[in-house]
Amino acid sequence: MTLTTFTSTTTPTSKGSNMAPDSHVPTHPFPKAAFADVIDANTRFAETFTDDGLTGRAARELAVVTCMDSRINPLALLGMSAGDVKILRNAGARVTDDVVRTLVLATYLLNVSRVLVIPHSECKMASASEDQIHDTIATQFGIDTRSLDFSVITDQERTLSKDLTKIRSHPLLPPTLIVGGAIYDVRTGCLNPVNA
Ligand SMILES: [Zn+2]
Repeated sequence: MTLTTFTSTTTPTSKGSNMAPDSHVPTHPFPKAAFADVIDANTRFAETFTDDGLTGRAARELAVVTCMDSRINPLALLGMSAGDVKILRNAGARVTDDVVRTLVLATYLLNVSRVLVIPHSECKMASASEDQIHDTIATQFGIDTRSLDFSVITDQERTLSKDLTKIRSHPLLPPTLIVGGAIYDVRTGCLNPVNA
């Protein structure tokens, strides 16, 4: 068959065409230039990569919920390696419904028996009000984001306590799940456990 045959009922292929054979939905060529650095880096990574047979289960039985802040290196700061820990990240390290969904899967199916929630110092989500963030985006980009709840943080320890309680009290999470919270200091690298 030719790659430009749009009437084919066989498995679609993206090669040689901007349209999937069985769909009117356009496909988009991979933006090579924008990702050249990471694809090149991966090529080098794969050259020395060895498959050590890890499974998707968390070898150290740990799940971490932390912020998307790019200063945080979860594996390094916890002394962990690939295969050890499930890492869930979002803006502000909040225990959202999607975090709960993921923890349910991680605890029952992926060997997680302890959860550590790690907000951090200098978090952008703890530095402005919900309205201020909406206003900033509206002013700079002309986009009204008020349909989104950014879940900003006004009192970091209080919010952490509430989020830990949400995990501890969730009816679908096992009562044996060990739950802790600690605030990471991006200036010292220290993880400071919180009684919450
Ligand atoms: Zn943050």
